[in-house]
Amino acid sequence: MYWMGIDFGGTSIAAGLVDETKTIIDRVSVKTRVPRPIEEMADDMAEMVCTLLARNGLSKADLRFVGVGVPCTANEETGHMEDANNLGFDDVAFVPLLEEKLGLPVRIGNDANAAAWGEYVAGDYPESSMLMVTLGTGIGGGIILNRKLWSGYNFAAGEFGHMTLCMDGVPCTCGRRGCFEAYGSATALIAQARHRMAADKNTILWQLCGGDPMQVEAKTVFDGAWAGDAACMALVDRYTDYLAEGIASLINIFQPALVCVGGGVSRAGDKLLTPLRKKTAEKIYSRNAGRNARIVLAQLGNDAGILGAALLGEDS
Ligand SMILES: [Zn+2]
Repeated sequence: MYWMGIDFGGTSIAAGLVDETKTIIDRVSVKTRVPRPIEEMADDMAEMVCTLLARNGLSKADLRFVGVGVPCTANEETGHMEDANNLGFDDVAFVPLLEEKLGLPVRIGNDANAAAWGEYVAGDYPESSMLMVTLGTGIGGGIILNRKLWSGYNFAAGEFGHMTLCMDGVPCTCGRRGCFEAYGSATALIAQARHRMAADKNTILWQLCGGDPMQVEAKTVFDGAWAGDAACMALVDRYTDYLAEGIASLINIFQPALVCVGGGVSRAGDKLLTPLRKKTAEKIYSRNAGRNARIVLAQLGNDAGILGAALLGEDS
């Protein structure tokens, strides 16, 4: 038996064929090319599924279903994509549309939730509960409780990025102020770094980005701190304070056995993980307990999205 996962993003649509060892054995992708009709995008997906099957000597009968991680609310009951504003849609009946084109059952899930599920299932973690915190353009999240993905009453759970960290704080893309992602996302760290560069012509950031602040990435700031640059060290210190505040609150609410940190910022590796573990441990309510959530870096990178979509609703 095989699974097919599709990571439906605003920039590209990536499909992967997954075998029983939870490994992506073949993949294909196309540009999303927003805006265009959903029918055309579904046609592309159906073609990608057929391509992958043909290339591997398989037929539709070899697939359990096709799973799609979508960049919006994924209504698992109706099969609708809701509030898909970044794709140019308000509400579309996506599952019936793709099922008709494919002649196969289709399942959908929110992309961040699917990525959390993929990381959990394919990462083979022994823990029965996990929070995934993805530090990218925003902060994405996913909640695994008792080995199941929790998507919430309205299928919009795990929006960790829009938990308030500072009331009346800096504006967030969601319309509120002081959200976790306005301080803890890669976007936020890059903005903090550029702000610092404007005030400090001596920081190593100028060298590391070749004199162009637009080239600064989250990892650049960690590299600068590692090299001993005072401005970068201050930025990383403050940034990991924000992250630890947010993650400690999540741990206090869910008491997960595992917190998995992914996204672009996680490429900083131990330079991120070491201060984050120390600061979080000091802040959590159960800090004096004999055991507390293990914090690790995600292993699967972008593959988690395809794997999680492919295995939506399957046992861990
Ligand atoms: Zn927000």
